[in-house]
Amino acid sequence: MTLTEIRAALDSRGLRPLKQLGQNFLHDQNLAAWLAEKAVEGLNPGALVVEIGPGLGALTSILLEKNLRLIALEKDRGLSNYLRDRFRSEIASGKLDLREGDALQLLPKLEASPAVICGNLPYYISTPLLMEGLKLSGPPARLFFLMQKEVGLRLASVSGNKTYGALSVLIQAAYDVSLVRTLPGSVFYPPPDVESVAVQLTPVASPPVQPSERKSFAAVVQRGFSQRRKKLSNLLPVEDERRAEHLTPAEWIALWRGIEKKN
Ligand code: SAM
Repeated sequence: MTLTEIRAALDSRGLRPLKQLGQNFLHDQNLAAWLAEKAVEGLNPGALVVEIGPGLGALTSILLEKNLRLIALEKDRGLSNYLRDRFRSEIASGKLDLREGDALQLLPKLEASPAVICGNLPYYISTPLLMEGLKLSGPPARLFFLMQKEVGLRLASVSGNKTYGALSVLIQAAYDVSLVRTLPGSVFYPPPDVESVAVQLTPVASPPVQPSERKSFAAVVQRGFSQRRKKLSNLLPVEDERRAEHLTPAEWIALWRGIEKKN
């Protein structure tokens, strides 16, 4: 959608972008086409795709041109009503299943496991949504999100780095992380103060931590990072004098397995 189309769509409904819902609408059409293409690249016809936060439909309209089944989860009532009108025929034909509500609550209740979960995420849910993604028992083949650059950097960060934390360890134990492209604030309306990044997450083959074990793994890792200056031996039942940030994800897994064995 162009900037003019976005403004007109909002005006037609008496809406304005809500900061508290992270509403920054993508108005660069080439970028939207490129992102939607990347998100669903290589999928089989009819594959199930979930879009988080469709907004006014900038990515949705392009995704609907592909031969896919799309479920879109939008929290904002005004935007959901707009989308219901805009995509009336796609909804009627069953190509688009638009669900109004909080993606964090709707995602775990999906009746089928999607091939891809994608979206231009509202900033405030990127971390909780990724944690939700870790809980999915049948992980999608790909997660493809636009998010705040700072969060993307944390996901891809390596041990010893300032940005390396519990989120980096938990995500990297489950997914290969690829920072695909940085986007300036100017491609959104209204422009956010920070840069964004397109992130692709692909599940690692034979994950070392099973989805059923992730809760216990997360508890240990989060405890370890809860006071970054303390040695692990002061935070966890281990004789390890290192600090949390000095262990690679593989070392964290070994440490957690050791603790599990003792219990
Ligand atoms: N996809 C659109 C685009 O690219 O222009 C909008 C992206 S905007 C950054 C984020 C969207 O997520 C908004 O439409 C907002 O209303 C919606 N949203 C915010 N919180 C949500 C939540 N908890 N669950 C589902 N959607 C949410």
